[in-house]
Amino acid sequence: LNFRLQQSEMLHSVGQLAASVTHEVRNPMAVARGFMQIFQKEKYIPEDKKIFLTMMIEEIDRAQMIISDYLSLVKTNSSRIERLNVSELISSLRSVMFPYALLKGVDLVQKPGDVIHVVGDPVKIKQILMNIIKNGIEATPEGGTVMLSAFIEDKEVIINISDTGIGMGREQLKMLGNPFFSTKTSGTGLGLMASYRMAAEMNGRIEAASEIGKGTHFKIVFPK
Ligand code: ADP
Ligand code: MG
Repeated sequence: LNFRLQQSEMLHSVGQLAASVTHEVRNPMAVARGFMQIFQKEKYIPEDKKIFLTMMIEEIDRAQMIISDYLSLVKTNSSRIERLNVSELISSLRSVMFPYALLKGVDLVQKPGDVIHVVGDPVKIKQILMNIIKNGIEATPEGGTVMLSAFIEDKEVIINISDTGIGMGREQLKMLGNPFFSTKTSGTGLGLMASYRMAAEMNGRIEAASEIGKGTHFKIVFPK
């Protein structure tokens, strides 16, 4: 219990730090982007060089997206509490993530189940599930499957996200949720940190089991 408390406190400070860094970093980036746009309109810059300005703007936009994707969510301290239908939630997330899965040649499947409800912040729950589904798709080679399902066990709501992907070893599993831990070339290592934090804020938790070469199973657990 003590360890859990410490960890959630640590996650909380990391989240607050992230939120303020986000805020501080956004402004200078917006300023730089503005100057690039001005240069784009300059007549003395040859057209064949303006492509570099376009690329710079695109890269800034990409960075902004990563920042808002992962960090601005951590900032949401406005906790909206709603009673959500879990299967509806999963099926709407499946529609959102389907094009991404299709692009990677991965099948995104929802296992039919009973009608289950969960109480929590819809924005946070969606973001948690999206981060974990996204990771599942990214870890799965073409032809594989990411499976979504939900059920109730011992007065807890359990949402399962399992993939037939590359899997993880024990050391890697231990690192999950640590800020900036990423094995991807353009990963941020912030998706799971934010997800673990948001789950803890709703008195939930995230568990992961994995086998290298076989796949990974994430369990997102909320009190019923
Ligand atoms: P990112 O996706 O930007 O790397 P995350 O915090 O979302 O950051 O994930 C951290 C790391 O956890 C990933 O880089 C990867 O090594 C590992 N990981 C997460 N989900 C999976 C999964 N389903 N299968 C294999 N590895 C995973
Ligand atoms: Mg991720």
